[in-house]
Amino acid sequence: MQKAEVYFVKLNELNKIKSLLPEFTAPLGIKVHFGEEGNITYLPSSYVKKMAGMVKNPTLVECNVLYRSPRSKARTHRELALKHGFNFAPIDFLDGESGDGAMEVKISGEHFKICYLGKGLAKYKSLLVVSHFKGHITAGFGGAIKNLGMGLASRRGKLAQHAFIKHRVNSEKCIGCGLCITNCPVEAIAFAGNQKAKINQAICISCSKCIAVCPVQAIAIPWGRDDLKTFRERLAEYALAGTQGRQCFYINFLMNITEGCDCAGEEMELMTDDIGILVSADPVAIDQASYDLVAKQGEEFKKQNGDAQLEHGEKIGLGTREYELIDV
Ligand code: SF4
Ligand code: SF4
Repeated sequence: MQKAEVYFVKLNELNKIKSLLPEFTAPLGIKVHFGEEGNITYLPSSYVKKMAGMVKNPTLVECNVLYRSPRSKARTHRELALKHGFNFAPIDFLDGESGDGAMEVKISGEHFKICYLGKGLAKYKSLLVVSHFKGHITAGFGGAIKNLGMGLASRRGKLAQHAFIKHRVNSEKCIGCGLCITNCPVEAIAFAGNQKAKINQAICISCSKCIAVCPVQAIAIPWGRDDLKTFRERLAEYALAGTQGRQCFYINFLMNITEGCDCAGEEMELMTDDIGILVSADPVAIDQASYDLVAKQGEEFKKQNGDAQLEHGEKIGLGTREYELIDV
């Protein structure tokens, strides 16, 4: 396969991006993430505003999340988006008020033949996918593929990607603080008789919120199984579904790089210095280049191994891992 072109732009020279953008077919959606309540490292709205100013009549598009949060319902999600400064273009929640508005998209994946995406996506002929590249607890890292794959999925589609991952509590480590119980969005956790947390697997939706909040790392996804790899492959298949039948282009911001993602409602430490912006027509190449640059800058980021997203993405025809990095 031919190498994909990935352009590197310095953060203080982002006006240069305009000359790299294609002519988009209307209507154009800019796929964004508005940042969780309490998170301060999501991609600031000022950057997205500049991107929106480079294209004609964009709409900011997003879907709702699975877990309990202002972002699980369109009304409160919109309020949060406006609070975070995303007030410069119309906002469209593709999956309706509470994530139930779904449309079927057929693909020839290994895990899925039908994907369930936000219904409103059907009307967009093109997408500018603007992503904040950072770590992610189950995906390894989150960039263009994650923004497309999970970000465009309806509630049913999100569940389909997560549903098989089993989270377990190590009762020897658990100190019985109850934080996982109060943070679980579906009340899947309770104390067992020994005052240790126990997960009801029949209710769990595998959102990993409990892993994020446990202060003593007592909850984990058991390694040695193929769960995470499968999850990352499923993400790539949903990303492929999101691109079907529409023109897509990608911008990754390599800044505010944290171990956790923008869905974490908390302040997180930065893992590396800010790096810059990547621009490409290929979602696999841009994520591969993003990972390579971040891992080169901060050794610690190498543990954020989301390789299966890239490997599987290439295998199913989403894009190529071979790229040429071009300084602009
Ligand atoms: S992963 Fe944890 S927080 Fe999420 S639904 Fe399952 S038990 Fe609850
Ligand atoms: S958050 Fe961790 S330590 Fe606290 S109850 Fe849950 S598993 Fe136990």
